[in-house]
Amino acid sequence: MNFRLRPRRRIYEGKGKVLFEGPDPGTLVQYFKDDTTACNNTKKGVITGKGVLNNRISEYLMVKLGEIGVPTHFMRRLNMREQLIRRAEIIPVEVVVRNIVAGSLSERLGIEEGTVLPRSIVEFYYKKDELGNPMVSDEHITAFGWASPMEIDEMMSLSLRVNDYLSGLFLGIGLKLVDFKLEFGRLWDNDELHIILADEISPDNCRLWDVKTNEKMDKDRFRRDLGKVAEAYQEVARRLGIMPENAVFATESEKQK
Ligand code: UDP
Repeated sequence: MNFRLRPRRRIYEGKGKVLFEGPDPGTLVQYFKDDTTACNNTKKGVITGKGVLNNRISEYLMVKLGEIGVPTHFMRRLNMREQLIRRAEIIPVEVVVRNIVAGSLSERLGIEEGTVLPRSIVEFYYKKDELGNPMVSDEHITAFGWASPMEIDEMMSLSLRVNDYLSGLFLGIGLKLVDFKLEFGRLWDNDELHIILADEISPDNCRLWDVKTNEKMDKDRFRRDLGKVAEAYQEVARRLGIMPENAVFATESEKQK
């Protein structure tokens, strides 16, 4: 039976995405929703068209990163809201890279938002929603067996490569890459274990400020009730030159009407 017509098994549903069984072993379909959450899930909302934009933006950035040798889970985009990905075992550690002080760093250490860091900072958070993703050190990560020292080194060096590349890419379209969050997975390939970039890269997990005006072009518009959230995501896609051809931002419920 055609894969598209077959009922698909839902593997996992997260806040912004759903994962379905893919057409071949070792693959998954990643579906991007318009749902969004912030502030440890206490703030919920729908950003109409966000899923379509993030699917496209993440595809673009993952492909570019693949071209410079960063291994990723991305295989190909299937349609407006779905992409085919390689199934990896997700490492329960979120890696945040920061270039400019913002968000939790500003609050935790009382440093003014917008302060440019003397060098990029990499932080680890334990991926556990129930605990609000607490910050951890590599000591916790190895002691609790979430990742090995070698895997931590690999995640660090890949994250810094991603940061260097994406900082330049965004600067080229008039955006400052303030900070972002990455997730990694383990994948067996030819009897070798590899660490690959997983999840997504989009304005949901990056802070992007306009170079000239410092206007926020990311999820902080939702977190801080700044308005024009979908418009900001659209503007990022437009500057990347990838606005979806027929940009119809209908929500699922609207589409079913
Ligand atoms: N981030 C994320 N998911 C999280 C926490 C943070 O994608 O669960 C991203 C966030 O969008 C920002 C960066 O990681 O680009 C740093 O976030 P921060 O620690 O400042 O936390 P926040 O202020 O977003 O709570």
